[in-house]
Amino acid sequence: MNKDIKTRCIHLDEESPDQVFGAISFPIFQTATFAHKGVGKSTGYDYSRAGNPTREQLEKVVTALESGTCGFAYASGMAAITAFMDLFNPGDHIIADRDLYGGSTRLFNTLSKKNGIEFTSIDCSDENISDYIKENTKAIFIETPTNPMMNVVDIEKVAGIAKAHGLLLAVDNTFLSPYLQNPLELGADIVIHSGTKFLSGHNDSIAGFLITSSEEIGDELAFNLKTTGAMLSPFDSWLLLRGIKTLSVRMDRAQENTQKIVEYLQASPYIKKVYYPGIETSRGYEIMKKQARGFGAMLTFEACSKEFALKVLDNVRMIKFAESLGGVESLITYPVTQTHADVPKDILEKNGITESVLRMSVGIESADDLIGELDSVFHKVAAELGI
Ligand SMILES: *Cc1c(COP(=O)(O)O)cnc(C)c1O
Repeated sequence: MNKDIKTRCIHLDEESPDQVFGAISFPIFQTATFAHKGVGKSTGYDYSRAGNPTREQLEKVVTALESGTCGFAYASGMAAITAFMDLFNPGDHIIADRDLYGGSTRLFNTLSKKNGIEFTSIDCSDENISDYIKENTKAIFIETPTNPMMNVVDIEKVAGIAKAHGLLLAVDNTFLSPYLQNPLELGADIVIHSGTKFLSGHNDSIAGFLITSSEEIGDELAFNLKTTGAMLSPFDSWLLLRGIKTLSVRMDRAQENTQKIVEYLQASPYIKKVYYPGIETSRGYEIMKKQARGFGAMLTFEACSKEFALKVLDNVRMIKFAESLGGVESLITYPVTQTHADVPKDILEKNGITESVLRMSVGIESADDLIGELDSVFHKVAAELGI
């Protein structure tokens, strides 16, 4: 029987029967290579680039959480997305959402273009994707909710379009984590994660994942990983295994905090607009309710001015002014100069990423303390600016 996802964060259905000394925590196999008893007598492991037990355990756990059949752990989210891009050939065309993690946009606009891949960037939450499909279109690449504007893309609907045209649908599921959303169950072909974020959960390691339920894609990805060596190290694999055990409690608390902060920001006279798909009047609310088990712990807001936004960043103390997201510590970022610095200006404008937009990753501190800090910073900044 498929156990609840809270249990699956901690236990695989088939526990390893030969767990060394009965250790509860899966061991770190910190070894580069494995000895053979004789010719043709492998233990199943030969060399850690090709396969390592700790990494494999992690891959099994994440694959199970995403309801896939095979998954791979990479040195970073970007290494995972780069491996995904290796599935394509020069001359192929990919439709990508316009509001993506800045690093993905940078990869697509530079290295992927150099390799002959053509892209069309559209708003997949709003535009008619079929209008952009060409003879050489091979895939659709989305995030939902999008980064940073929190647009919601209907995964099932886009999967239907992809299937009808024989395209692959890849979904970067970093923002919700497998605890809240499972794109493969909604018809996606490949799920991507920056494991650095909610899966790790502690702002202490960089990792990435690709998960699929297609054997053919799995074989290609396995060959690619063995050949390029972009895999996650044994120690980082263990950190991820450890982080995932508390994914459900972390997400539950962070999400609860987020709801309270959203309400505070909505009532603040210094905040123009709050972007969070859990707001009932937001464009994506109904789709989120249909395809996800929660609204997540990421929110974006537009301050009353650029000066206000910049001074908020200067004054926060407990909430750190830092890139990244998904950890126990709350972080606040300035997308225009940080995560989205390499996104072309016209696209930033089209997406509404202005100089007064801030993005917050809500951690698991006390909601009262988080709101208390925002409130005192807002009042201090308002006084300084004379508003
Ligand atoms: C951070 C992030 C990435 C890149 O992952 P790294 O682990 O930093 O390489 C990709 N997609 C999204 C949505 C992200 O937030």
